[in-house]
Amino acid sequence: MIPANGAQYVNYTADQGLPGPIRQVLAWDNDGHPMVLGSHGLVRAADLGLIERVRQDQAAVVGAVPGGGWLIKYKDDEGAKHVVPILAWTVHADGSATPLATGQDGLTNDATSGLDDYRIYHPDESYTRQEPPAVSKPWCGECNYGQEPTFAAGRMREGDTGRLEKCHCHPGYVPPQPAQEATA
Ligand SMILES: [Zn+2]
Repeated sequence: MIPANGAQYVNYTADQGLPGPIRQVLAWDNDGHPMVLGSHGLVRAADLGLIERVRQDQAAVVGAVPGGGWLIKYKDDEGAKHVVPILAWTVHADGSATPLATGQDGLTNDATSGLDDYRIYHPDESYTRQEPPAVSKPWCGECNYGQEPTFAAGRMREGDTGRLEKCHCHPGYVPPQPAQEATA
């Protein structure tokens, strides 16, 4: 017997082309035949019906973590909005995570299954937009000896003392304080 990793399922064929029952593969026998749970224990899957196929659902679950306050917001078929807490996340061997929520049937399931229109979010997330950076002032056309500098930081002009100082069009320009005495 070979242990199964919980990611494979047996799809059975039902009559009249209807989808048949699905059973999780719990182990493989030494011939590689899937073993499922029968009413008295593990049985060969083929003993319970005609197997349509064995499918791999997703990467095996390797762990689970609490929902952490995440919510899923979705629209149902009638367009009504719902917000449901994520109860837990299953973590899969490939690094993906599946949000679990309680569905209308009362069973805990993949919160997104069957949903086209949903959003998973955390109420603590901030959606406030960052203030756009201040648009730099246009070049005054005079500083940097009359040559427009490549960068706004080059907008320097000679002050009255002959020292280079930031032009009023420089992004870091600080207007002189009124109390400050102007040097003549
Ligand atoms: Zn300037």
